[in-house]
Amino acid sequence: MPLAPDEYHARALAAADQDGRLPRSPMTDWDIFPFEAEGLTVRPLAAPVLPESPRAGAGGVDCRSCQDDRGTVWRDERWRLRRFDKPGGAPLSLLLVSRAHVDFTDLPDDRASELGVLLVHVARAIEALPHIARAHVSKWGDGAEHLHLFFYARPAGMRQMLGAFMQLWDDLLPPVPVAERDADAWAVARTLRAPYGGEVVGPL
Ligand SMILES: [Zn+2]
Repeated sequence: MPLAPDEYHARALAAADQDGRLPRSPMTDWDIFPFEAEGLTVRPLAAPVLPESPRAGAGGVDCRSCQDDRGTVWRDERWRLRRFDKPGGAPLSLLLVSRAHVDFTDLPDDRASELGVLLVHVARAIEALPHIARAHVSKWGDGAEHLHLFFYARPAGMRQMLGAFMQLWDDLLPPVPVAERDADAWAVARTLRAPYGGEVVGPL
């Protein structure tokens, strides 16, 4: 049965303390949680805000992903793989972006099938890097409407960074040097080109 947003909020708030703070999640005691649990508090629960404000580039208006292709290391007619403007602490983080302005859930079935194949090829190319143990793939989409998926490469042996917290570690760790990050990004692009197709943008 559908629960109205204010009912959902009220139910959650009933589990919170007088300041609206929920108890700490058991996840904060996991070995891979990046912060010490001591002294950690949950932010007070905010009320729902409706209607939601439009995302960046909504309807293709002033959409950054439509307007420029900077950071691109690989592309074909429908997709491009790009670096972030600045490296994070993960050895490599990449974005897979559609060339056309489309929201993830508006993809027609043939493009959705193509995306599934491409995601596996990109992840495989990242995991082919000798110092990378895992390619994490994430789709959120609350910030911008234009379809974009995230890849985070977990460095080999760094078992403290298993799983979803890799994105936080990417923010906590010192940024990797640009030249190192770019070399890895182009290596992924070249590996991707061989079996999948498309073109490398940058050193061939
Ligand atoms: Zn766009």
